[in-house]
Amino acid sequence: MTQTTNSPNRQPRIAVFPGTFNPFTIGHAAIVRRGLQLFDRLVIAVGVNINKPESVESAEERCNEIAELYYYESRITVVIWEGLTADLARNFDAKFILRGVRSVADFEYERNIADINHTISGLETVILLAAPEYSAISSSVVRELRSFGHDVSRFIPLPPKMK
Ligand code: ADP
Repeated sequence: MTQTTNSPNRQPRIAVFPGTFNPFTIGHAAIVRRGLQLFDRLVIAVGVNINKPESVESAEERCNEIAELYYYESRITVVIWEGLTADLARNFDAKFILRGVRSVADFEYERNIADINHTISGLETVILLAAPEYSAISSSVVRELRSFGHDVSRFIPLPPKMK
């Protein structure tokens, strides 16, 4: 029998949201918020990206901070992941990858990874366009501002208990 979108028996839709999150910004949080409207569960995978500079925080600290942010959201799991996203997705039975784009440059990059992931594992990548108010926010800008001692709190989401 074919399962329709609203069928109570349909498989849960699970997506992996992989990133370096160095640090996790309000731009990432906006993608998570929107992703929760599309998917039943999200696995936020904190990557250790060898091509990007490490921050003052380790991947473990970044993972803990993101987990704290979503402490009350039972549909979100936060993990550290060093391998291929395709392998992580298989571990969690996820059929989708969630990503965001801010610009044409982002798009070209995302398209290549999406294509590879689809080729090697059949995973579909769902790419959300950044809302205009978030399109200039990037982890690298936040890192740079922070390195000059600038207050970056407006770019970093607040954990629920501090609201
Ligand atoms: P990666 O190193 O994998 O690119 P990032 O942490 O930089 O990891 O980004 C993770 C994902 O979030 C990427 O798809 C990136 O394009 C997206 N992203 C980052 N910042 C924003 C933003 N402000 N708005 C929308 N998407 C964003």
